Amino acid sequence: MNKNGILVVVSGFSGVGKGTLMKRLTEKYRQYALSVSATTRAPREGEEDGREYFFKSREEFERMIRENRLIEYASYCGNYYGTPREYVEEQMAKGRDVILEIEAQGAYKVKQQYPDTLLLFVMPPDAKTLVERLSGRGTESQEVIESRLTRALEESQMAEKYEYMVINEDLEEGVEKIRSLIEAQRDKIGRNLAFVQEIRTQLETLLKKGE
Ligand code: 5GP
Repeated sequence: MNKNGILVVVSGFSGVGKGTLMKRLTEKYRQYALSVSATTRAPREGEEDGREYFFKSREEFERMIRENRLIEYASYCGNYYGTPREYVEEQMAKGRDVILEIEAQGAYKVKQQYPDTLLLFVMPPDAKTLVERLSGRGTESQEVIESRLTRALEESQMAEKYEYMVINEDLEEGVEKIRSLIEAQRDKIGRNLAFVQEIRTQLETLLKKGE
């Protein structure tokens, strides 16, 4: 069987609760490694450098791009966001499943580089819930909320290219849904062609012996 870790991209509109879902998922199932992105956006209250994000200046971020230290990066609502390469490749080589919580442009770029990637899109139960969650966060200005809703509308089209959606209504149900999708990905035939080949070889050997 394929012992490499699975790369999972989780996207979803701002405010949909991806962060909470990922936190719970990785607390409950320790085998999943959550990648920490780099960003030029300012930290929100309570966020810590190296925990939610690596907070970078534009110059630092652009240096990371030049040095090919990001698997992908994208510009989102006026800031750069990107996935540091080293951690992801290291963890996958160790057989750990790695989760990237990134937006859609980045997701497509990851899928191009790693076609085995599982693309999940987290949806709110309805649009009103999304607005309530964004406003309830209390950390964003009205202007930022509107820019994120406009972006959500655009992303709803990008979501069509994803493989599965997860509706975030109940936290535990959402976590279990994500876990079962990751586990199913592990058993995809396309990931396990070496195993299929091995069985074929064994069968051929057995048949030859019986001749
Ligand atoms: P926020 O500012 O709300 O933390 O994140 C804004 C958006 O950027 C979210 O959709 C989040 O998933 C996305 N994002 C976070 N990190 C990355 C990254 O490394 N690459 C890309 N492409 N998007 C990211």
